[in-house]
Amino acid sequence: MARITLDHIRHAYGPNPQSDKDYALREVDHEWNDGGAYALLGPSGCGKTTLLNIISGLLQPSHGRILFDGKDVTNLATQARNIAQVFQFPVIYDTMTVYDNLAFPLRNRGVAEPEVDRRVRDMLDVIDLAPMARRKAQGLTADQKQKISLGRGLVRNDVNAILFDEPLTVIDPHMKWVLRSQLKRLHKQFGFTMVYVTHDQTEALTFADKVVVMYEGEIVQIGTPAELFEKPSHTFVGYFIGSPGMNVLPAKLDGSRVTIGAESLTLDYAPKAAAGAKTELGIRPEFIRIGREGMPVTINRVEDIGRQKIVRADFAGQPISIVVTEDAEIPAEARVTFDPTAINIYADSWRVGREG
Ligand code: ATP
Repeated sequence: MARITLDHIRHAYGPNPQSDKDYALREVDHEWNDGGAYALLGPSGCGKTTLLNIISGLLQPSHGRILFDGKDVTNLATQARNIAQVFQFPVIYDTMTVYDNLAFPLRNRGVAEPEVDRRVRDMLDVIDLAPMARRKAQGLTADQKQKISLGRGLVRNDVNAILFDEPLTVIDPHMKWVLRSQLKRLHKQFGFTMVYVTHDQTEALTFADKVVVMYEGEIVQIGTPAELFEKPSHTFVGYFIGSPGMNVLPAKLDGSRVTIGAESLTLDYAPKAAAGAKTELGIRPEFIRIGREGMPVTINRVEDIGRQKIVRADFAGQPISIVVTEDAEIPAEARVTFDPTAINIYADSWRVGREG
């Protein structure tokens, strides 16, 4: 398995790109660890597939280099990069047996038959298809076929990375959960470098150790699920992760004092924002308390979502969402307090921390 270096990569599909908006990928400059499980998460059109195709060699970036374990592979074709790919629709040979489908990539590389047999049998157990080994792949269900695709990627032990492009889209919801957990277990067991593209936050958060959030051709944050939740680097991450997303309120800064409409609060640090920057306060709905103390709020609606309730309200002239437990009391003259440790401050959409 390999460490993947994305060295100042930019990509434009059209000729003569002039400005940032002509680039499907603006600038990606990161190093991904050997054995890491990365999910590329972001809305449609943000550049996930473009980046994945650059890693796999289907696309050559307009600028920059890609390295596997320090070796420049930018000009190598997909076949020469030693990667396994699992696509949205399972790519398998219907007329071959399940066993032969799994054996195919090994036989193709001249692996001796006893070793092929040993690895295929192991993999059949791993993907829970041992009883079907001798059946033709034709007629299997979509999730069984996708398990074969998965198995074909995992059966090789010479791959630099395994790339997944929305592999669970055609799988029904229950099986999705099963396959995702299975994938996570396999990753723990074998330690592959995995890159997994999805626009589904649940899929990304349960699968990955590191979630790579993309927005308009840029990586806006790489973090653990907890980091994305607690300290979104960009307001987009705040909106996109979590349900409902983070409340982002226009705010004025004056030292450690933050003013939102007619309300203000004091932080225990003074966030530093460049003069003239658009400044905002971010607070997740889970970290707002409703009670009889604090700042006034007007409640518009309460939505019951099982063990929790979502309160939709107006605060300082802005709509906000608040998540409370199902048994929480909501007073008629409600007031709110923000958990000070959960407040994030943004300047021109980027988080400014204590460190400035
Ligand atoms: P989705 O989730 O819809 O697949 P994505 O995040 O994978 O989206 P990309 O497919 O990488 O996004 O597309 C990024 C941008 O590049 C989009 O604006 C898209 O229209 C553009 N694009 C993608 N492929 C091509 C192409 N072959 N030619 C021209 N533009 C393209």
